[in-house]
Amino acid sequence: MISKKLIDLGVLALRQRNSRGTFKPHVSIRFRDNAGDLRTFSIDTTRTLGKRLQPDAYLITHAHSDHHGKSAMLSPNAVCSEKTAMALEIRHDRKYAGSVYRLGDEIDIQGTKVKTFPTQHAVGATAFYWENEVGTRILVTGDVKDASRLPPCDVLITEANYGDPADPSCHFADDLEGMKSALFDSGPVAFGAYEFGKAQRAVELIRDFGYDGAICMEARTRALTRSMLEDAGELEGLGFEKDNGVFVVAPWDLNKLPWNMKKYVLSCRMDYPYPVIKISDHLDVHGLENMVKKLSPEVTLVYHPSGHRPSKFSKHLNSIGIDSISIDQIGNVLSNDFI
Ligand SMILES: [Zn+2]
Repeated sequence: MISKKLIDLGVLALRQRNSRGTFKPHVSIRFRDNAGDLRTFSIDTTRTLGKRLQPDAYLITHAHSDHHGKSAMLSPNAVCSEKTAMALEIRHDRKYAGSVYRLGDEIDIQGTKVKTFPTQHAVGATAFYWENEVGTRILVTGDVKDASRLPPCDVLITEANYGDPADPSCHFADDLEGMKSALFDSGPVAFGAYEFGKAQRAVELIRDFGYDGAICMEARTRALTRSMLEDAGELEGLGFEKDNGVFVVAPWDLNKLPWNMKKYVLSCRMDYPYPVIKISDHLDVHGLENMVKKLSPEVTLVYHPSGHRPSKFSKHLNSIGIDSISIDQIGNVLSNDFI
């Protein structure tokens, strides 16, 4: 049984309960460190309040709200990259209380050496890697756009945002040519992109395509982009050069721009009232499968997002002979409170 395999590897996956008795988001990993001490790393979950026993670390993979940094950032045990901490502070107007590292550094969490790797999902997005007492290599990816720099592991804890092989929307490739021709078509153009993550990817792509004029953005998106990117180039407010500019705004703000401006949404979702240019911050299902094969873990735990996709992807892995469980199985197999 798969849970036994995890235990054989010295890894206990737990779902912590909140005060109402329901599961908190995502998962906690308990293991013995090299000194033989029990450690608990909670991953992308909310903070435990009050005097209740705290995990040794709240690992925050990146600053998207469905990874709950808004709550975990207030704990001194929070751990995230400098860029993630900066993004959390700008987005939530709170002071980050935990510790930070430069992405790529090795950090020490209560004696456990944790390596950090980029996943290219958003600026600062981190995969965490460490070994337990018996040498099991544990890798927590968060969301992934590019797995090429991730190390092989024994226990892979990963996502399935686009992990349902039966769903056509989980198969895609970035339409870079489409975005480039939209950019250089005559007249002003606006790209709809979420303020954190997609907007910075849009700016990087626009600069890569060779456009070095002003990019117009709403104030907070601009602040985030300036802090996240070293070479964002000239960024202006929304009132600037409406006749011949390039705009990056939230998809729901496209309708506030002049009606005769060309408008697109950078997404893989098809439910927008504007033409979509497929630009994703994620691997599609094929990319996720290739990542798992390349990292060749003994067990893959699919922990994100909420809904059915972790289970769908996990079952798909099982169907091609790769051992996997999804987060919804943890509560049934290992029904544990945190303490
Ligand atoms: Zn994300």
